[in-house]
Amino acid sequence: MAADIPEYDDLVIGSSPLMLLQANFLASQGQKVCVVDRMSVQGGLWSPVELKDGDVTDRAVHILENYAGVYECLESLTGCEFVALDEPPVRLLGNGWVIPYDNRLIRSATRLYLTLGWLRASLKVAAGNQASKESQINFQSKLADHFRIRVFQRNSEIKGPRQGYAVLISRIVERLETLGVCFATSDIAAVSFAENGKWLVEGSQMFKALTSRVHCTTTSNLRSVSPGRIESIKISPAERFAFIVEIPKSRIKRPRSYVALWKHPSISRINRLTVDSLNDHERYIVEIHGQPSDFAGNLSEAIGDSLIRSSIVRSKSDFHLVSEVSCRYLRYVDQWKDEEVATGFITYKSSGNLAAAISRWLELEDRGSLLERHS
Ligand SMILES: Cc1cc2nc3c(=O)[nH]c(=O)nc-3n(C[C@H](O)[C@H](O)[C@H](O)COP(=O)(O)OP(=O)(O)OC[C@H]3O[C@@H](n4cnc5c(N)ncnc54)[C@H](O)[C@@H]3O)c2cc1C
Repeated sequence: MAADIPEYDDLVIGSSPLMLLQANFLASQGQKVCVVDRMSVQGGLWSPVELKDGDVTDRAVHILENYAGVYECLESLTGCEFVALDEPPVRLLGNGWVIPYDNRLIRSATRLYLTLGWLRASLKVAAGNQASKESQINFQSKLADHFRIRVFQRNSEIKGPRQGYAVLISRIVERLETLGVCFATSDIAAVSFAENGKWLVEGSQMFKALTSRVHCTTTSNLRSVSPGRIESIKISPAERFAFIVEIPKSRIKRPRSYVALWKHPSISRINRLTVDSLNDHERYIVEIHGQPSDFAGNLSEAIGDSLIRSSIVRSKSDFHLVSEVSCRYLRYVDQWKDEEVATGFITYKSSGNLAAAISRWLELEDRGSLLERHS
């Protein structure tokens, strides 16, 4: 193999917070680690975005549920304090009813939906429809998380990092830099087993690296095509748009922290960007359905309507739009099983829920033993 190809102990594909935690774990164990993402900014869906006014903020609405060990793990890693949201997260129904985010009825309905989905996909797979395999894996893993966490491990108080998620992610990245982790930007196209017992990882921007182990989440677009060869498949990323709005503190009616709007024609979720801001205004992020161009000039009207319905403000003159932000993601989740897909190629379950994924990751015995097996 050419001498100029860099070599690592561990190469992490994708920089979602879950994978940044894995990179931190590996680097803390003294491994030489590289994190590669097709995006130049780290954090995946949770990556920070810099606005024109210099403010660094989130690119999507976030809620991090209270799954075992998650807040403590992130607090000790970053020094960012997790504090209770002063208004608990809610769902706003079409008829104006406000119900708590963690509602008993909703939990039962979710359980039923996941069970039926899993049964349906399993029956299709049993009847020979291999195309339903991914859906079966997806429902099965969500159902397992639901039982493990929603039923057996119930902690309900939801918290958030006092300074917001953008600061939290930046702190994780800073920590990785101090541990000597290298960051690269490349869309990984192929991972193949090389003669020297290492994986050769290749991607865009002429990226090439040799590594003893490869790590990525189960949502990645990489698939085994033959023993010792894993390739990316084409999945067009979906884009989700949101708007940052600013409200003077004196004009806030209820400082809601998180609102999921059901059946609102154009707005899906709203959340406050910091738990408590030191400024005389608060910034909220408002996520829309579809594209900004769908609004034909009524965007401000729709956002105002959702803020009033959520009781955050009284009138449409109480806020102003600061900026549009967006995030890109692969629509399908958990297309792979979480396991060692090939010797030294390990996938971690994303769960479609970061808190569930981190809580589960914290329990993985393999985080340590894999290093011994493949060193
Ligand atoms: C629209 C949406 C909203 C969500 N909201 C929440 C929420 O509010 N709360 C919550 O707990 N969870 C939420 N989740 C789930 C949560 O964000 C993920 O479970 C978590 O980020 C785990 O990350 P991931 O690796 O699956 O995905 P991501 O965060 O999307 O990260 C994947 C990263 O890998 C990179 N990547 C993938 N393939 C390649 C490749 N071949 N080469 C190079 N780079 C690659 C991508 O560029 C991306 O940066 C949401 C998910 C989606 C899709």
